[in-house]
Amino acid sequence: MENILDYDYKELQTKLEHERLERYRATQIFDWVYKKKATSFAVMTNLSKKLREELSRKFKLTFPELVTKVTSKDGTVKFLWKYEDGSTVESVLLRYPDRISACISSQVGCNLGCKFCATGRSGFVRNLTSGEILAQILGMERSEKERIGNVVFMGMGEPMLNYDEVMRAIRVMVDPKALKISQRRISISTAGVVDGIEKLANEPLDVVLSVSLHAPTDEKRSKIMPINQKYPLSVLMNAIKNYQAVKGKRVTFEYILFDGFNDSMEDAKKLIELVKDIKCNVNLIPYNDTQSEFKRTPPRKAKEFEEFLKSHGLEAVIRAEKGSDIDAACGQLRRRTL
Ligand code: SAH
Ligand code: SF4
Repeated sequence: MENILDYDYKELQTKLEHERLERYRATQIFDWVYKKKATSFAVMTNLSKKLREELSRKFKLTFPELVTKVTSKDGTVKFLWKYEDGSTVESVLLRYPDRISACISSQVGCNLGCKFCATGRSGFVRNLTSGEILAQILGMERSEKERIGNVVFMGMGEPMLNYDEVMRAIRVMVDPKALKISQRRISISTAGVVDGIEKLANEPLDVVLSVSLHAPTDEKRSKIMPINQKYPLSVLMNAIKNYQAVKGKRVTFEYILFDGFNDSMEDAKKLIELVKDIKCNVNLIPYNDTQSEFKRTPPRKAKEFEEFLKSHGLEAVIRAEKGSDIDAACGQLRRRTL
C-alpha cells in the first residue's frame, strides 16, 4: 500500500482515477495533508465517512516517528526520525531573523565518503522516498508550530544520487496546493554529481544549485572528496557553466576552510581563477569537528580569505555557524544507533 505522501499532485489525480475515485479529491487531500497537517484520513471531515474509509483501505498516510528532538542555545532544533523499516535520519530547523529554514536529508547515509563528513563515514543504507523527505518538513512544522519557508538539501545524503525522489518532493514543496514554498528558497547541495546537474538544467524548476567545492585544484579535491576522481573540476565547472547558461541564475559554491589545507592566499587565487566565468556566491564554511584529520581555520585567517575573495569581486561570506553545540551543524549529522 502506497503512502499518500509519495505522490505529487498529478500522480495522485491519476492514481485516484485508477481507483475509480474523483480526480478533484486530490485537491482536498493535498489541502488536508500539506496545509492542515492532517495525520490520518479520519480527520478529513469534509470527505464522506465512506470515502475516508475507502482511502484508508487503499492508501497509507504514515509519518516517521520522532525519536529525539534537541534544541540548541541559538534556537536551532535537531530532529531524529525513524522510518517504518527502522532507518533513521536527522533534519535540522534553523532560525534566522527573517526566516525559518529546514535542512533536510535525502538519503539514509551517503556513499560518497568525503573525508570531513560524519554522514559519509557512517555508510549508505538506502534512498528516501519523496514522502519520507516531505515528512521531515511536515514533522518539523507540526512539532514547532511554525511554517518553514526555506529548504536546503544539506542534511544527510547526496540529493543528486536520489534524483527522482528529490524532484518529486520538490514538486510538492513548490505546489501552491501543497507547501507553497518559493522555488528560489529551495537549495540543492551536491558534492558535484555532474549528470544530476545536467538533468537539473532541464527541469522546469528554478531552485538554487549549490555545489560543494571545498578545494581549488583536482589534486587537493581528490584527497578529500573521492567523487572528484569521477567528475574532475574541468568537467564539473563545465556542467555548472552550462547550467548557468540555461537558467541564468547565480549558483552557490560551498567552501569549507580547513586549516593549512585549502586556506592559503595561493588557494584563494586558484579559487578565484576557477570560478571567474561563473556568476556565483561563495559560502565559506567553518569546518565542524567530526573527528577527522582536519582542523578549522582560525577566524582571523578565515576573514582574510573572505576579504581577499571580495577584493577580487567575488560575493563571498563566512557562513554563520549554527547548532554546533548539539552536533547539528553541517557535516555532523549521522545515522544514530538507537
Ligand atoms: N551531499 C551534499 C549535501 C549534504 S552535505 C553535499 O555534499 O553537498 C551539506 C554540506 O555540508 C556540504 O556542503 C558539505 O560539504 C558540508 N559539510 C560536510 N561535512 C562538513 C563539516 N565537517 N563541516 C562543515 N561542513 C561540512
Ligand atoms: Fe555525502 Fe555530502 Fe557528506 Fe560528502 S559531504 S559524504 S557527499 S553527505
